[in-house]
Amino acid sequence: MSDCLFCRIVARQIPAEVVYEDDLALAFKDVDPQAPTHVLVVPKRHIPALSETTDDDAALLGHLQRVACRISKDNALSGGFRVVANNGRGAGQSVDHLHYHVLGGRAMKWPPG
Ligand code: 5GP
Ligand code: ZN
Repeated sequence: MSDCLFCRIVARQIPAEVVYEDDLALAFKDVDPQAPTHVLVVPKRHIPALSETTDDDAALLGHLQRVACRISKDNALSGGFRVVANNGRGAGQSVDHLHYHVLGGRAMKWPPG
């Protein structure tokens, strides 16, 4: 989708600090980091939100979580890290292209705000 921010990052129409890429996924640093490590993992294909996925997307969703795991290792987050998908405005989703936040490098509180 040409008007989607993350599709434009995937297409390299908007610059981002890419830390990982494969055929299905792109990972890049969040422009407004909330932790020392804050990386966004997105599918290259436009999917608006987790709630828009189907059973056919199960392998892709698993793959995105494996990429998140890889990001944690690349950043030596052995002390702990958090993977978050905000779904819908009420949960804080501001970009309507599925993404997992990978956060680490500081102590995490629970419950999140
Ligand atoms: P959400 O609020 O949808 O869960 O997360 C969207 C994230 O995208 C936010 O953490 C925000 O800082 C990040 N973001 C918004 N615009 C850009 C951008 O242009 N580049 C990058 N790298 N991150 C962005
Ligand atoms: Zn998109």
